[in-house]
Amino acid sequence: MTDYRETLHEDYGQFFKVETMLHEVRTEHQHLVIFENPRMGRVMALDGAIQTTQADEFIYHEMLTHVPILAHGHARRILIIGGGDGGMLREVCRHASVEHITMVEIDQAVVDMCKTYLPGHSNGAFDDPRVNLVIDDGMHFIAHCTDKFDVIISDCPDPTGPAQVLFSEDFYHACHRCLTDDGIFVAQNGTPFLQADEVQTTAQNLKGLFADWHFYHAAVPTYIGGSMTFAWAAKQTHLRKQSLDVLRQRFASSNLVTRYYNADIHQAAFALPQYVLHAIGKTHND
Ligand code: SAM
Repeated sequence: MTDYRETLHEDYGQFFKVETMLHEVRTEHQHLVIFENPRMGRVMALDGAIQTTQADEFIYHEMLTHVPILAHGHARRILIIGGGDGGMLREVCRHASVEHITMVEIDQAVVDMCKTYLPGHSNGAFDDPRVNLVIDDGMHFIAHCTDKFDVIISDCPDPTGPAQVLFSEDFYHACHRCLTDDGIFVAQNGTPFLQADEVQTTAQNLKGLFADWHFYHAAVPTYIGGSMTFAWAAKQTHLRKQSLDVLRQRFASSNLVTRYYNADIHQAAFALPQYVLHAIGKTHND
């Protein structure tokens, strides 16, 4: 068996034994590879960075969907930017209260290849009648969008290549404009132990723009470097502070069966360690 070495960091990284190489292609936008690993199952990488694995994708997808949707309480219209593997879409579709989902993915090949080789990620969600899949650059879409959304989820890779624009000031301003008055924006924001600049830059962009901004975190084993942070930004200040009773009640009412998310994890995830608070320029988790 050959090795697949992640090249996200030039001086530190992880490798995967490649049991079977399932697909490799240079698409119009990026280098896409999907292979089988004995421990993590099927793995997808883009431009040398691990994007998702069958073994641990549930952690990431549950935390970037159920936290904002259950904090919101009556989210009807959802926008997913990126997310080509379909895992985020699968989790959003599990909320019966959600009425409409727009998903904007730049690369049709990612959708096609993940439907073929990672079918469990989307698990049929692309065929859900509530779903509107748009193949476009998320920045181009949001800049011209006249719709309003209750939750916007930026499920993007690291800020390189086509994803760089999804970490720009213009992107955050456009997302703010396209949120309803009690809307919530969340985004993948790297592992601050190795990528502190990502949370620093995002914090700078969010603090003057949203009434409430912070980060929450979860450890996703194949996003190396410790806990991954998720950016949180909302026009209302109370949504991040829902009581544990409310979150437990909403989780119970949702009839969701999860493998990572629960109301206690939801609330605790917003408690950031000192080094991350320092990186985002806060002294408390307030
Ligand atoms: N969980 C992964 C992570 O944390 O890096 C992200 C997974 S998902 C596969 C990332 C998706 O974002 C890919 O399908 C990629 O094609 C898409 N993407 C990258 N840049 C984009 C852009 N500007 N607009 C829309 N989608 C984009």
